[in-house]
Formats: sequence, structure tokens, C-alpha cells
Amino acid sequence: MHPFQYQRADTADQAVATVTKTATATFIAGGTSHVDLMKEGVHRPSVLVDVSGLPLKQITQHEGGLRIGANVSNSAAAISADVRQRYTAVSEALLAGASVQIRNMASMAGNPLQRTRCPYFRDLTQACNKREPGSGCAALGGYNHVHALFGASDACVATHPSDLAVALSALDARVQTLGPRGPRAIAFPELHRLPGDTPHLDTVLEHGELITSLDLPPFTGRSHYLKVRERASYAYALVSCAVALEMDGPKIRRVRVALGGVAHKPWRLPKAEAMLAGQLPSEKLFRAAATAAFADAKPLEHNAYKIPMGRNLLVRALLETSGLQALQGPAGTAFAASVGGVAGQLAVPR
Ligand SMILES: Cc1cc2nc3c(=O)[nH]c(=O)nc-3n(C[C@H](O)[C@H](O)[C@H](O)COP(=O)(O)OP(=O)(O)OC[C@H]3O[C@@H](n4cnc5c(N)ncnc54)[C@H](O)[C@@H]3O)c2cc1C
Ligand code: SF4
Repeated sequence: MHPFQYQRADTADQAVATVTKTATATFIAGGTSHVDLMKEGVHRPSVLVDVSGLPLKQITQHEGGLRIGANVSNSAAAISADVRQRYTAVSEALLAGASVQIRNMASMAGNPLQRTRCPYFRDLTQACNKREPGSGCAALGGYNHVHALFGASDACVATHPSDLAVALSALDARVQTLGPRGPRAIAFPELHRLPGDTPHLDTVLEHGELITSLDLPPFTGRSHYLKVRERASYAYALVSCAVALEMDGPKIRRVRVALGGVAHKPWRLPKAEAMLAGQLPSEKLFRAAATAAFADAKPLEHNAYKIPMGRNLLVRALLETSGLQALQGPAGTAFAASVGGVAGQLAVPR
């Protein structure tokens, strides 16, 4: 591992100042993502500023919604009664990710900031513009079955791996930060960037900008997250889907939908959302919206399977969220109920 200095931050201001003054300094929270990348030689920070001791571990009522501190663990957020009852998709997305041990260590700020699982990004012998700008993209001519359908560029076709990020995008969460220029709020769907010609930049955060909380706005509808993966647990999404649905009597008042595993960021579906608003829910309507949602997909050589998979997942997520179809399988997963596991044992209240 590349040698580094380790410092424990006592205050958020101190953490921001320390990282800001050194270009190669970074924050570390649970370390479940960052340390792996350091061991693999992909990340080579000179200074690690540990923010895990900062008092950002509360879940509090905030402006009619919820404020989840940056250092709340993925496990604590997933089992919080407020999160489960009012923002079910967030709990389901967290429980569909990683393993119990990792979720116990992983922080709510670190999760959406994890890097892509593109295998070439982690292989130092391969060209990768995200790891080393200007070196090329081995995935373009390589085995690209886990790569993007939407928003990719000639420089990078990677997808974003976080399950949580997909749910936060559909729920229009806000990210509160403290940066070198003071505090600011970022709408969650604007946090992550498309690759363009700068795929080494994953988000709009400035160097030294610390996430202090994730804020969920008031929401009285139903939300739901579904994920398809290669194994029933401990695997990233091939395709996933979060739905936030608000009804007005029998009609849909507003629905927000985000897909995971298909783009460099959680992929919101504004066309499908507009098609569904004001309509009576039905399988026919949901199928039409899913067809429209994938009309602009641009498959690579090995990932066209994600188009029918994504369409079917979106229809199922809409059917289950609207109550037209009963929930099937463990929370957050599109696998059958027989799979079991921790997510399966946790009944998520509807
Ligand atoms: C084997 C394995 C399987 C996994 N499976 C899944 C999965 O299926 N789904 C899924 O979504 N995730 C999965 N994960 C990823 C896991 O959820 C993340 O590693 C974890 O959430 C990251 O949180 P952390 O606190 O450990 O972040 P760290 O590793 O400490 O940091 C991650 C990044 O966030 C930055 N950071 C941390 N805190 C802050 C802050 N407050 N402000 C600004 N920057 C900050 C760090 O600088 C670093 O760049 C898996 C991980 C492993 C190792
Ligand atoms: S898809 Fe992106 S992360 Fe993967 S090799 Fe290409 S540039 Fe690197």
C-alpha cells in the first residue's frame, strides 16, 4: 500500500481545512470502500482524515422530513422505524446491499461516494480514464456486460454501484455539505456527474467538501426498491429500480422513478414520470411507460440483456408499489422469497 499519514478529525471545520490544504488528502469514514481501493493501488492518498468520530450520527425530524447524519451506519438507517415506514425504498436499498458486517461499518455519506465496480477500473494493468485520465477505456472493447445503457461517453461507460443512491434520487433527497467555501445543499439527482470527457470526477463535490447529512423531504406516499443481481446476496445490481409514488384517490398524482446499474449516476426517468402522472394505475400503462423509458437506451456489445430486464423490473416495481401486485421476495430484491437472508427476515411495513 502507498504510504500515508492518518489523522482523526475533532471537528467538521478541521476535517475540511485539513483535506482542502493538500491536493492528495481524502476523508475516510467506515473505510469499507476506500481501504480496498488503497490496497489495490487505485487510490493513493497522502493524508487520510478520519471523519468517523464526528458527531454526525443522528437521525432527526427535519422540516417535515428526516435528516440522516453522514456518519449514521447503513445498518442503523435501514432499521430506523422512521426510515422504514416513511421512506421504505431507502431501507430496502440498504438491506439489498453488501453484507451485514459491511453495512455495520459503512456510513450514509460514504455509500453514495463509493466508486464504480467496472473491473477494469480496479485492474492496474488495464487502460482506464477514470483511474488514469487520458489512458483509454478498456471496457469499450472488452467485456462490458455490467456497463451503462444511458449517458455514457467515448471516455467511459461505467455504472454507479450504490443501491442507496438510487432510492435517494427517486425521493429527491438533498445533500448538506460543508466545504472550503462554507455550507451548501445539493439536490441528490445533481450530486453525481455523467462521465463526459472527465470520468475521473464522479460527483460535483469540491476537493475538501464534507457531506454532513442526507435530508429526506416530506413524503406521504409509498416507495419501493427492487434489485436484480447475479447472486441473491453480496452482489451489486445488474439493474435496480426505485419508485416513489403519491396517489390522488384512484389516480397517480406524482411518481418518481430512478434506475440503478444502467448509468454513471442514478438514472431518473422524466418521460415515464410524466406519462404516469394523472393516470389510473394499470399494468398496460406501466408497460407503456417502461417501453418509453428504455427507448433511448444505447447498449454495448455485452449488455443488451439489461433492456428487457430493466423494463420488466420497472413494471414490477410499479405494480408492487401501487398495490396492483403483492410484494414478492425479500425486501429490496427481485429474487423469490425462498432466498431468505437478513433482508428476507425483516418485514418492511407498508
Ligand atoms: C464486498 C462488498 C460488497 C458491497 N456490496 C454493495 C452493494 O451491493 N450495494 C451497495 O450499494 N454497496 C455495496 N458495497 C459498498 C459499501 O456499501 C460501501 O463500501 C460503503 O457504503 C462505503 O461507506 P464507508 O463509510 O465505508 O465509506 P469509505 O470507504 O470510508 O469512503 C468512501 C468514499 O467516501 C468519501 N467520504 C466518506 N465520508 C465522507 C463525507 N462525510 N463527506 C465526503 N466524503 C466522504 C471517502 O473519501 C471515500 O472517497 C459493497 C462493499 C463491499 C466491500
Ligand atoms: S468504463 Fe470507465 S471505469 Fe471502466 S475502464 Fe472505461 S474508463 Fe475505466
